[in-house]
Amino acid sequence: MNTIILKPRKEESVLRFHPWVFSGAIAKIVLDSHYPHAQPQEGELVRVADSTGKTLAVGHWQVGSIAVRILAFGVDSLPSDFWKQRIAAAWQLRQVSGLVREDNDTFRLIHGEGDFLPGLVVDVYHDTAVVQAHSVGIHVHRHEIARALAETLPQVKNVYYKSDDTLPFKAPIEGDKTGYLIGKAGDEACWATENGLQFRIDWVRGQKTGFFVDQRENRLLLEHYAKGHDVLNMFCYTGGFSVYAIRGGAKSVTSVDVSAKAIDLVNANVVRNFPDFTAHYSYAADAFDFLNEQKENKYDLIILDPPAFAKHRDAISNALRGYRRINSKAIEKIQHGGILFTFSCSQAIDKEMFRLAVFTAAAQVGRKVRILHQLHQPADHPINIYHPEGEYLKGLVLYVE
Ligand code: SAH
Repeated sequence: MNTIILKPRKEESVLRFHPWVFSGAIAKIVLDSHYPHAQPQEGELVRVADSTGKTLAVGHWQVGSIAVRILAFGVDSLPSDFWKQRIAAAWQLRQVSGLVREDNDTFRLIHGEGDFLPGLVVDVYHDTAVVQAHSVGIHVHRHEIARALAETLPQVKNVYYKSDDTLPFKAPIEGDKTGYLIGKAGDEACWATENGLQFRIDWVRGQKTGFFVDQRENRLLLEHYAKGHDVLNMFCYTGGFSVYAIRGGAKSVTSVDVSAKAIDLVNANVVRNFPDFTAHYSYAADAFDFLNEQKENKYDLIILDPPAFAKHRDAISNALRGYRRINSKAIEKIQHGGILFTFSCSQAIDKEMFRLAVFTAAAQVGRKVRILHQLHQPADHPINIYHPEGEYLKGLVLYVE
């Protein structure tokens, strides 16, 4: 294995278990004597050592500002059952968290650094594990990962590899038919259960792995508020919040998403769970236009769950403008005594920045606004305490007088 030697004192963050080594921290690369290339190849395992040559960790080599994503600290190689061990530990944590029940077979099994597996995301839907590689290193190990998933989780019958838009190259969207990365025809979607509600999950055509698992508990909270309300679910995607609102006794539910495919899924999900509910309305429309066009203020419970406005640090000011704009529109349009559930899933926007953006939006409109709840990501999206960057989802529940 090739060795990455750090500059003096650059070992400090590694000794504090931060899982990334930045390219600027590297003094030199010592290649194995028989190594055939002039430098490590992206996705390979490398050893990380301090400036004296002492082993610190093993990780995946990457091209870019994050040069190594660390998989294991204090060792110079990975045990042969490494993937199995980590996946078993993550599975154990999901069981401890009470997420795996008869009325809930939908959960995130692996949340990257939060499960000590940088670059790997795995969501489980009923009998299918959908695997997403965010690093070439994970792509290289995809077969071992798939095998470990199939062998560890008794319910997993199908492992689908979906990394078509998360890697620097085009990964096969279909499984590669090794038997562990299965992509056979017919395995493109399933009905999964979340808190007793059924959702159509289409991991082939859907966004990300097919569903936003991270809002499960926030949807449950919304359900408790929904009784008798006229609910507007903006950026609804598959309509998670809409279906919970109906179960909670909403008077009417309106779902809005710019994607027509998403609207088809919302409609299918509403009909599957509540075939007799006649007050669900759905629109494939831009959220900003939709709010602008509302002549009367008829909604008294609004959900704003936009996509990550800031994908990178340099997009922060634009993103904050987006949050201010959409929140001020909703605060302006909501009925007196209305409840607003507002979220940000941009990792680059922290909870103070988001709260300030919502504060500014409220001040612009000039209505009295109080915070009832501060929301975040659930237990199956754990945050490694040494990697605070893993915190991304934040939300506020506001009471608007
Ligand atoms: N609330 C959803 C997840 C939202 S993801 C859930 O619980 O599952 C963000 C959604 O916003 C995506 O479905 C995307 O299609 C939609 N979207 C993006 N830009 C939009 C816009 N300008 N107007 C309306 N919807 C938009």
